[in-house]
Amino acid sequence: MKLTGQKIAVVGTGTIGAQVLWQLAKKNVDVTGYELYSPGHSRGAAGGETRLFRHLEPEYVEYLPVTSRADEIWNELEMESGSRLRNLNGALMIGSESSPSTANALGAADRLGSGAEVFTRSDSQKRFPQYSLNDDEIAILDKAAGTIYPERTVRAAADAAAKRGARIVRECRVDDIQQESDRVSISTGDETELYDRVIVAAGAWTSILLPDMAQFLATRRLLSGWFLPAAGKGIDGMLPFMRLDPNYSYGLPTADGLAMKLGVGFPHHLPVATPDTAPMRITDADLEPVRAVAKDLFPDLDDYPMRAQAYFEAYTHSRREYMNFHPTMSNVFVCAGFSGKGFKNSPFFGELAADTILGRKPSIPEAQFILDFDHVAQLPV
Ligand SMILES: Cc1cc2nc3c(=O)[nH]c(=O)nc-3n(C[C@H](O)[C@H](O)[C@H](O)COP(=O)(O)OP(=O)(O)OC[C@H]3O[C@@H](n4cnc5c(N)ncnc54)[C@H](O)[C@@H]3O)c2cc1C
Repeated sequence: MKLTGQKIAVVGTGTIGAQVLWQLAKKNVDVTGYELYSPGHSRGAAGGETRLFRHLEPEYVEYLPVTSRADEIWNELEMESGSRLRNLNGALMIGSESSPSTANALGAADRLGSGAEVFTRSDSQKRFPQYSLNDDEIAILDKAAGTIYPERTVRAAADAAAKRGARIVRECRVDDIQQESDRVSISTGDETELYDRVIVAAGAWTSILLPDMAQFLATRRLLSGWFLPAAGKGIDGMLPFMRLDPNYSYGLPTADGLAMKLGVGFPHHLPVATPDTAPMRITDADLEPVRAVAKDLFPDLDDYPMRAQAYFEAYTHSRREYMNFHPTMSNVFVCAGFSGKGFKNSPFFGELAADTILGRKPSIPEAQFILDFDHVAQLPV
């Protein structure tokens, strides 16, 4: 006998949806997940083998308690799944001394206390010689940051949910969601099933499925490029990094230690209509910005990638997540628009969505701002 008596569907079991599914299954809810492909696929926002986990937050300090709670849930999922989902051996945040984002990062480092260490340019060159910082740049070591393994995480959360009784319908596209009085119908091909409540976590596909969400969300294509070390060089000891504005970029070593994956910021993320129709071919012009990072910051890396791949993410105008009920369907909760930074906190977003749909308060009161955030007041993207 299921605890709440409610039947709930989760549409999309990617980064966020798999976490929601696991949280609801843990609460003994009758829950079904629908997935266009299969949990852990690489065609949405969760591909490319690595994501950055960090405590240092240069933009929005309100997320610090959220990341602490997410960190606890990460550990719980690792225990329950028996899979290693993160490698927390530290990450660097690099920034120009005069930039406001570096000032924020230094403030965040202060709050982390012994969890962070600040290096001047010359100290950084001794300790992290593979990074060629600009004259005015410093580096902050976020000691408990590191690498997330995204595909393995999505798979682990979905498997843990299934083990606790969640049903997952794979390789199945939800075509339509409609609320009729207090029930919500989900249509897939010729079949329609009724639920009490639905959570939509369809990532870059959200506004195709829910056209009313198009006013809040824009879909973008993000590139990752993998760079081998130059002849005679290696990447031993290289940490994941994030370089702050005005030279925003990030990168992570591959798990086998053979290459460094690099990515660039928002201005280089190509707006596309949908992931289903977006160009997958990567041109040399597309590669220029990411090659520039390799040339500028890493003298020991080749400057032409051995591999390049495209992924898709939904952005809000504010670049803060939309976690709220659908504008017109009161039993449909939408988790979308994670705007290039949703992975590290995804276990918490999963818990928050599950609590909210069950009418419960967030596990940490400091997270209420996420639900209260007024996206309706934002301009369309
Ligand atoms: C290249 C790149 C690098 C990033 N780096 C970082 C980082 O270092 N740190 C960090 O914290 N964040 C990072 N992010 C952001 C983070 O990865 C995303 O915010 C997060 O993965 C978004 O999760 P999502 O659940 O919204 O989307 P997804 O993980 O794409 O999940 C959406 C799911 O819905 C399914 N779906 C869609 N439509 C339907 C339908 N109609 N029926 C059934 N299923 C459907 C899809 O198949 C997919 O599985 C990065 C993102 C990208 C793209």
